[in-house]
Amino acid sequence: MTGERELTCDVCGKSFDTKDALGGHNSSHSRRISDTQLLAEVDRLVNELGRSPTATEMNELGAYSAGTYKNRFGSWAEALQEAGYEPVKQHRVSEDALLDEIRRLATEDGTPPTAADMRSEGEFTVTIAQNRFGSWNEALEAAGYDPNHRHRISDAELLEEIHRLADELGKIPTAQEMKDHGEFSHRPYFTRWEGWQAAIRAAGYEPVGRPAGPDHHNWKEQPVHEWREYGDNWNEQRQKALERDNYTCQTPDCEWTQEAHLETFTRGLHVHHIRPLSAFGDDESEVDFERANRLDNLVTVCAEHHHLWERASPLRLDIR
Ligand SMILES: [Zn+2]
Ligand SMILES: [Zn+2]
Repeated sequence: MTGERELTCDVCGKSFDTKDALGGHNSSHSRRISDTQLLAEVDRLVNELGRSPTATEMNELGAYSAGTYKNRFGSWAEALQEAGYEPVKQHRVSEDALLDEIRRLATEDGTPPTAADMRSEGEFTVTIAQNRFGSWNEALEAAGYDPNHRHRISDAELLEEIHRLADELGKIPTAQEMKDHGEFSHRPYFTRWEGWQAAIRAAGYEPVGRPAGPDHHNWKEQPVHEWREYGDNWNEQRQKALERDNYTCQTPDCEWTQEAHLETFTRGLHVHHIRPLSAFGDDESEVDFERANRLDNLVTVCAEHHHLWERASPLRLDIR
């Protein structure tokens, strides 16, 4: 890969058999493109992006390759400095910093800032936000605002939208489906929870079926039909059960810790219903989740022992 790269002209893409041949060729380009032209192109990209471009951006958006700048100025950072700009790393704004700034500019009643607000009072340019998130509205969404209704979307509204879409689709939505069909897009879920799966769990769904293990694909890729609804208070109750059981499988002599379990099975310890959900309602839509999720019906188990507990319940309620 590097060999291939070294022997391809960064400017015109021509290939050469030897480094010498490429070097000779490069200098012919160098003579044709002046330093002034190269630096003017940096200026143009800075205007387009609203900040210093990265080397990758020069390759993708610029008229010349970053390699040309490196040859001429020693490094991409030095080329930037020569053009009068700060090196990219110091200047690069993280997504989190942008989102924090959007939240800072929101009014007290939760109305998000307009692009004009960001322009006049913001620490960063609107262009940076647009460039990073696709549009100003998408940046607002990523910060957890609803650009149409102009207020901060509550966690409850976001979770309710998962339920609504699940009903509409007849299955647990993927992040892509939320993006395509959801009212708020997928972005606020990723900033509010640790990821799509965490959001789905927070909405009260739990993966069922084969436990994810090392031979399994990453459990993130578990098909959505393997999720089922465990009720609105599931996430909260599940957390309480884990804490009560000190994050330890309750099977006698079991030695899985939460950390080891996470590492091996790519998900934490399970929380099992001693009496199954089916004991709390005739069909899935009528389950009494409040009762099913009571702490005395929940127990922390590991992926290895979960099936034992499944077999034992609900016949041996006193197994603990
Ligand atoms: Zn179970
Ligand atoms: Zn165990």
